Amino acid sequence: HPMLRQWPVAERDALPMSLWTAAEIVAATGGVTSHDFAAAGVEMDSRDVKPGDVFVALRGEAMDGHRFIPQAFEKGAVAAIVDRPVDYPHILVADTTKALHDLAHFARERSHAIRIGITGSVGKTGVKEAIFACLDRASRGAAHRSVRSYNNHVGVPLSLARLPARARFGVFEMGMNHSGEIAPLADHVRPHVALITTIAPAHIENLGSLEAIADEKAQIFTGLLPGGTAVIPADSEWAGRLIGHARNCGATIVTFGRSAGADVRLLDAIPAPGGGALVTADLGERRICYHVAEPGEHWIVNSLGVMAAVRAAGGDLASAGLALAEMGGLKGRGARHRIAVPGGEALMIDESYNANPASMRATLKALAATPASRRLAVLGSMKELGDFTEAFHRQLAEPLAEAGVAYTILVGEEMRALAEELGKGTGNSLGKPIAFAHCQTPVEAIALLEQWSLAPGDAVLVKGSNSVGLGRLVSHFIENS
Ligand code: ATP
Ligand code: MG
Repeated sequence: HPMLRQWPVAERDALPMSLWTAAEIVAATGGVTSHDFAAAGVEMDSRDVKPGDVFVALRGEAMDGHRFIPQAFEKGAVAAIVDRPVDYPHILVADTTKALHDLAHFARERSHAIRIGITGSVGKTGVKEAIFACLDRASRGAAHRSVRSYNNHVGVPLSLARLPARARFGVFEMGMNHSGEIAPLADHVRPHVALITTIAPAHIENLGSLEAIADEKAQIFTGLLPGGTAVIPADSEWAGRLIGHARNCGATIVTFGRSAGADVRLLDAIPAPGGGALVTADLGERRICYHVAEPGEHWIVNSLGVMAAVRAAGGDLASAGLALAEMGGLKGRGARHRIAVPGGEALMIDESYNANPASMRATLKALAATPASRRLAVLGSMKELGDFTEAFHRQLAEPLAEAGVAYTILVGEEMRALAEELGKGTGNSLGKPIAFAHCQTPVEAIALLEQWSLAPGDAVLVKGSNSVGLGRLVSHFIENS
């Protein structure tokens, strides 16, 4: 592979095991220190510090990280990067935010890792985890990724600063709430491969239109290295526009999806015995057949994007197939739990981390495809939809009915519009009315769901924007199982 620069074995063995030495931090940041240390990690949140980390005291709008230095050392920090002298081992720099960027860029340049950047309206974290799992398996543990959804102006440089010199692959999530945010993130990462998962109305409140969202996401291509690859969702109505942006950036273009012309194209998908799907895809020069454990049609298409990115990064496709078969159950993003109910067990699908119209539709479809005696949904408000809020909530009546949902609990003020719509009593695809209740909090929703008396064989989808707090409902039912 032209971009896959491999370390000669002898050289690789000479690379340090520690993430950062004091000397390297000084070289990267131009800071000053009188301490010698080797750090195993980098952290900016004192609560998350692990023994051996270097703590970066960032100054935010509301918080000053310097206040948390004692706590960071209590938790085992070996040094802090600071902009004023402190009574702990430290490296003094002029500006700690700039120092974090310096570490990010230094780590990027010292590593020979192939970097994959991921953005999109929905599915970034899931696809990031999947690509990581694929490349980590192929490289026997030499892949690195951003943790959680660390995808913003702090999370991206921090994730880069954590890139080990030995890594062969680095997988980075990039997100945005406002226009203009993606390009600087792409410039930090300078990916070899840039993937857009989907274009859908998320954060549309700030962006105004889907077109503007597509244009913003496409800014990821501006950071591509020369000869880099843009991976684009072929089924999106914005595919042509994304391709235009990628061309302007001189990228090699690879599309994925169900559409006829897609470079990584779905040929067939059938339900797999243990859940998920058996996928056959056409990659142009060959066909590949693999098992995707994550349920739902959206994961079938996500997996095509994963394969496209893995191939572009020079990763092994067979290993990727094995990794996709082993994945499944990302917390808050589709994890499936067996919960105890009188007389047996029911299924609870935890989608409590995130919700917008596209992911609501995708997961309601996945619910419809799940074998169950009854299908129930606890749906929380979808946030950040601005002027579209009411209409997008109202429009969920249709996918809810199509999924054959018998009973739904709607949580949060924004869900009132959907309650009104369901109140018209049109019924579901099974010809039954959809029973529903509306409440404001997860605690009330727990009580309602308990009253409804779940029965063995029921499947319950729990989905809402994170701030609604439906994760509490899921924990409640798991803990009582
Ligand atoms: P955030 O902006 O919060 O970081 P994200 O883009 O990282 O979100 P994920 O957390 O990966 O998104 O996924 C959120 C939800 O989106 C999943 O729980 C799933 O319901 C849904 N989802 C994942 N992939 C797709 C897809 N291709 N199309 C529609 N929905 C999807
Ligand atoms: Mg995310």
